[in-house]
Amino acid sequence: MAALSLVSCSQKQATTTPSTDEFSYMVDQFYDLGILRYRVPDFETLSSQQKALAYYLTEAALWGRDILADQNCKYNLSIRRACEALYLGYQGDKTTDEWVAFERYLKRVWFSNGIHHHYSEDKFLPECSKDWFVQACETTGVSYDPVILSVMFDPMVLAKKVCQDSDKDLLLNSACNYYEGLSQAEAEAWYAAHKDDSAEPKWIGLNSKLVKNEQGEIIERVFKTEGDGLYREALEKVVENLQKALPYAETEEQRLVLEKLIAFNQTGDLQTFNEYAIAWVKDLNSRVDFVNGFTEVYGDPLGITGAWESMVNFKNLAATERTEKMSSNAQWFEDNSPTDKKYKKAECKGVSAKVITAVILAGDCYPATPIGINLPNANWIRKAYGSKSVTIQNLTEAYNQASLGNGFNEEFMYSDAEREYAKKYGAFTGDVHVDLHECLGHGSGQLMPGVSKDNLKEHGSTIEEARADLFSLYYMADAKLVELGIMPDAEAYKAQYYSQMLNGALTQLVRVEFGKNIEEAHMRNRALIANWVLAHVHADHPEVEIIVENGKHYLRVNDYEGLRQLFGQLLAIIQETVSTGDYDKACELVESYAVHVDPVIHAELLARYQPLNIPPYKGFVNPIYIPHFDADGRITDVTLDYTEGYIEQHLRYSRDYSVLPNINL
Ligand code: ZN
Repeated sequence: MAALSLVSCSQKQATTTPSTDEFSYMVDQFYDLGILRYRVPDFETLSSQQKALAYYLTEAALWGRDILADQNCKYNLSIRRACEALYLGYQGDKTTDEWVAFERYLKRVWFSNGIHHHYSEDKFLPECSKDWFVQACETTGVSYDPVILSVMFDPMVLAKKVCQDSDKDLLLNSACNYYEGLSQAEAEAWYAAHKDDSAEPKWIGLNSKLVKNEQGEIIERVFKTEGDGLYREALEKVVENLQKALPYAETEEQRLVLEKLIAFNQTGDLQTFNEYAIAWVKDLNSRVDFVNGFTEVYGDPLGITGAWESMVNFKNLAATERTEKMSSNAQWFEDNSPTDKKYKKAECKGVSAKVITAVILAGDCYPATPIGINLPNANWIRKAYGSKSVTIQNLTEAYNQASLGNGFNEEFMYSDAEREYAKKYGAFTGDVHVDLHECLGHGSGQLMPGVSKDNLKEHGSTIEEARADLFSLYYMADAKLVELGIMPDAEAYKAQYYSQMLNGALTQLVRVEFGKNIEEAHMRNRALIANWVLAHVHADHPEVEIIVENGKHYLRVNDYEGLRQLFGQLLAIIQETVSTGDYDKACELVESYAVHVDPVIHAELLARYQPLNIPPYKGFVNPIYIPHFDADGRITDVTLDYTEGYIEQHLRYSRDYSVLPNINL
């Protein structure tokens, strides 16, 4: 029971947000993962109504955790539960290498919401032996489906979460759980036959799994609470808490959002989902806001079904002023971009922008999380009603605070000049870059008639991220940003230009295992931009180049204004690719610049990076929210407790927010 365990914490005192100085950001570190804590500044300044609303939304968020685990791979819940039972019950020696390796494996499973690396999407194996695991489970009395042993320990079984290799059948070679028994061709034919070609299309497949039954028919299993809906047990809990949140809605618009979302979770009806998404875009005046449901489609090899995620947040009033300057000038940015006129939106509307403070991260946003959100994903809704873009300042603050002085800039940046830019402007321009990417980048441009985002297939996400990044980079150096008071001066953008190029061309490779290609869409995007630029500099006076000094590769920028022009040229190419749905061009760009890794440089970067002992990926633990009730059961206040550790948090979530069966059919 979630409420009970939270109430029992209410003895602890945690009323105001600690300052950055006294706050301990690092919580844990294992493998390539670092676990951070984040502050929730100003939570205490919310009204009791807002706090109550936020509280029930955090509860609705936490109940979706198991849905995502099951979507990632059908054996994830079985494996996690067997490991947790062993972890809690084991009475043997906990100082042995086997136990330590097992604990590290479980921590990794929690981090990835499953058995595949959250970024590379490769399966990771336990470093404890299979024999030890089997024996330990037996002596501890832990029972499990024997199939999980090969899933856990055999490297060949379900090796890749999301296959992106276009030479292969993307579904049969993916371990994720969005399709059962179907080939890619069968799924594509099903989607083609069920496509909604209306002007206001339903997102067919957003909330369902396609399953081939014994008769060979394809059945759509919809995620909903009614009837035999898939994930109904968890969605009922989500709905229950959304219903509890309803009386605390801040505005009529927000009440409608909650009502539509409740109805959508009950019926799975995609028309209701569209109404929900439109209501959500229109709800601009509530301080507390949230995402809850099947959202991003990166986890589906065909990019159709949404992974479950939730994030609850409230508006950061001071920082939002900055992004409002961007959105209120959206048309100016659209008109002045270096893209062809026919690919520009004649009328840019409804690009709302705000900076938020995250209250809770859940599902696909936890523990690893995006630092910006731009929704809804349906193009026609964005066009007709606009979209909401947010950047999450309390999370970027946590990243920045945790990374100060870790030795990275000293090792990889070319000279003190770049390090000075980074120190003076890096954190701030990083935030501005995310704002521009989310507020203006994704919302810019238009598709030609008859073209859909799906035309670019498996390269769609990479190309779209590159488009948003380039739009941001191009404008970051524009005098308009200084004029608007967004950038402090005409030099600041150089910090972001340098870090973008350094990261895309070199340092992000420390996040790729030696011998592997670049797979993840955001990483491919950054490689694409950096490598394309490096391939298109002036040979006699390169704007930017890779140079070797003392046997080490460095990135040096010689001409920042020239670099800007190269970003602009690539933006025009990418925009045309998206606007015309040119799949061949997308393949050429991705294949040429975004995937392949030079093994010599890669080995060198890994060797330089390793001694720094910096975890390349980071995720978070959430605060605990403690509700205080009056005699009538209404929430009068909600206080925070920041003291929970990583292991404790996951064990608590698994204990208190876990109702799905091991295998969901
Ligand atoms: Zn993006």
